[in-house]
Amino acid sequence: MSRLTIALIAHDLRKDDLVDWAEHHQAELEKFDVVATGTTGTRVLERCPNLPVTRVKSGPLGGDQQIGALVAEGKIGGIIFFVDPLTPMPHDVDVKALTRLAVLYDVPLALNRATAELLIENLGR
Ligand code: PGA
Repeated sequence: MSRLTIALIAHDLRKDDLVDWAEHHQAELEKFDVVATGTTGTRVLERCPNLPVTRVKSGPLGGDQQIGALVAEGKIGGIIFFVDPLTPMPHDVDVKALTRLAVLYDVPLALNRATAELLIENLGR
């Protein structure tokens, strides 16, 4: 059976929180292949060097859309996306496109830490 791929993305002000979350859930995350947007992936790998993280481009440079393409291809089992609800983003349309595809393809999508806890608990089963 092939492993599920989980996507990790965090906006800048939420990266510390996502890195903490990833470290806390490292054992569960090791059961998945992990894909992450560029800077998020770098930050996660600094803290968790043994995680199998594949980095795509940085979000504002197309990384969110690359992950969206993987969703459309049926290659993503879940998305953890720690969004910053208080800062305007130049790539807001890309964020919207990714969340739309996650809804369209019925891919579990956690936009905050509370939901990420539920998602990882259930995907890991
Ligand atoms: P980043 O992209 O991980 O490269 O910062 C995340 C985003 O802002 O979508």
